[in-house]
Amino acid sequence: MNAILIFGLFTIVAAYVAAPLIKKRDGATLVKNDDGFDDLETDKNNLLATIRELEFDYHTGKLSAADFEQLERDYRNRAVALIQKIEEIKNREMDDIEDQIRAYRQKLAERMFCKICGAKSNTDDKFCSQCGSPLNSS
Ligand SMILES: [Zn+2]
Repeated sequence: MNAILIFGLFTIVAAYVAAPLIKKRDGATLVKNDDGFDDLETDKNNLLATIRELEFDYHTGKLSAADFEQLERDYRNRAVALIQKIEEIKNREMDDIEDQIRAYRQKLAERMFCKICGAKSNTDDKFCSQCGSPLNSS
């Protein structure tokens, strides 16, 4: 009996949490990244808001201590998992940016000096101004 009650509650809460997400996906998700980063942030904020609501319901006597503990633990675990995922994506994006900067710097460095005669050249020169040999363009 208790299990059914908890499941029913959980379903209601889950529907409540999911509803604004589904609504949002229909409209306003033409935003930047394709990695779903913004969606994760939204999910995280919704989970945290739900946890606050659970606390409110518990303190106002709408939820029993047992129900509150179980639901709160469940939502907290999900929030923690989401936060870890968000951190992973952030780290990955930082790595990408650092890789790009490194590649760009290397490209600049390679083109600064002619590999044949060592003369300095502008980064957008195609040929060495000193000896005329082609400079790395890739
Ligand atoms: Zn040269």
